[in-house]
Amino acid sequence: MSGTAQIGVTGLAVMGRNLARNFARNGFTVAVHNRTSAKTDALVKDFGDEGTFVAARTPEEFVAALERPRRLVVMVKAGDPTDAVIQEFAPLLEEGDVIIDGGNAHFEDTRRREKELRERGIHFVGVGISGGEEGALNGPSIMPGGSTQSYESLGPLLEKIAAKAKDGTPCTTHIGPDGAGHFVKMVHNGIEYADMQLIAEAYDLLRRVAGYSPAQIAETFRSWNTGRLDSYLIEITAEVLAHTDEATGKPFVDIVQDRAEQKGTGRWTVQIALDLGVPVSGIAEAVFARSLSGHVDLREAARELPGPSAVPLTGAGAAAFADQVEQALYASKIVSYTQGFHQIRAGGEAYDWNIDLGGVAAIWRAGCIIRAAFLDRIRAAYDARPGLVSLLSDQQFAAEIGAAQDDWRAVVAEAARQGVPTPGFAAALSYYDGVRADRLPAALTQGQRDFFGAHTYRRTDRDGSFHTLWGGDR
Ligand code: NAP
Repeated sequence: MSGTAQIGVTGLAVMGRNLARNFARNGFTVAVHNRTSAKTDALVKDFGDEGTFVAARTPEEFVAALERPRRLVVMVKAGDPTDAVIQEFAPLLEEGDVIIDGGNAHFEDTRRREKELRERGIHFVGVGISGGEEGALNGPSIMPGGSTQSYESLGPLLEKIAAKAKDGTPCTTHIGPDGAGHFVKMVHNGIEYADMQLIAEAYDLLRRVAGYSPAQIAETFRSWNTGRLDSYLIEITAEVLAHTDEATGKPFVDIVQDRAEQKGTGRWTVQIALDLGVPVSGIAEAVFARSLSGHVDLREAARELPGPSAVPLTGAGAAAFADQVEQALYASKIVSYTQGFHQIRAGGEAYDWNIDLGGVAAIWRAGCIIRAAFLDRIRAAYDARPGLVSLLSDQQFAAEIGAAQDDWRAVVAEAARQGVPTPGFAAALSYYDGVRADRLPAALTQGQRDFFGAHTYRRTDRDGSFHTLWGGDR
């Protein structure tokens, strides 16, 4: 027997509840279920007038409420709880039904779950959802990975509830098979870490080198947000910096402990990048910067180390420096996205996902945390040349980063002179100089490897592997 609900959501904490409401507001009949029924009752009581909900108290009731093929979204804690819920529901399903995991799963878990369920005739779709609770309610960016057949059944619903880009296109697309969606969401979060770190460095420089107050920096960010840096993260940064703590009357940013936390997707991005051999140095520095901030003991032990003698800038010098910081931030941001898209391309190749990079940029234009005007241009770059090896080889981005480089170098140099850490800006600049170098000192590294380990080297003038019989008694 099948029911009338076109979609079901199990797991009604903040994300699941808002997603269920989003489906209902868009005219779908939504079956809702939660391990603890009080949350199901609360949803129907508080938001029942937003659309049609079918409240289910048991997994059996939940499954019976769904029309066939059944589509059920699992929005529970990532990891073991997701496996437990899948094991609970799978025996109740029939061939062709679709289980959708909307949590922040590791893409390898998604691959495993997809394979297991495929063998039982059930489609499993791992969906990356970005936009936080607000996005889940009003339109997130949605990154589904799974079979083409499952997307045919699910896609129209996702397209309805997804954010819409300025040109009206829904911010969702079939990313590719099995773990592709969660992989892309993982890299999205890695880029998010890098974006946030770069913005934090820009703030730190404006404050400590240019001597701006948080309110002045908020104004500076607001003006940047009207230009090429136009993005959600710059917009909210201005809000945070303009906020005054009610209890003390101090700038809010000054009463927050300077220890950044993390949930793990940035770390996964770097771990996987290491496995794939993709240099995502900007994302890695962002993860390490959070980790350094959290090492209170390390920082306490180093507090007495001497800093530089340089003095902060003032007047016109400070204003000119602020303009240079905008250039450095933009150039570094181009590098982070270059690295992130490289990782998606490499993942796509390694797992045979055939990911359309222009399509990924397109669905990040709205709804997600890294949404930015800039993504429309990344989309255009990949649409024009789908085989683009690096974003830096796109003519427009190459021209922009080239125009920014002198100011970028000046900012990194001034930061070093003044003792302000800029791991993100500096790593991005090193990447830029690394990829554009005619010759890298890797030649010497190869020589060293051959010397101590007979690892051999390749010559510039002849094919083949070579080993030198190094002198002495080795
Ligand atoms: P959450 O705090 O991660 O999880 C709470 C939900 O999981 C509750 O409904 C809870 O049920 C259920 N649950 C936990 N263990 C369970 C088990 N063993 N069996 C059945 N249900 C179980 O909720 P959330 O913040 O809404 O996030 C949901 C998912 O979305 C997570 O995977 C998260 O990583 C992902 N996500 C979150 C955000 C965000 O901004 N929060 C953004 C994107 C993705 P009870 O009520 O019965 O305890």
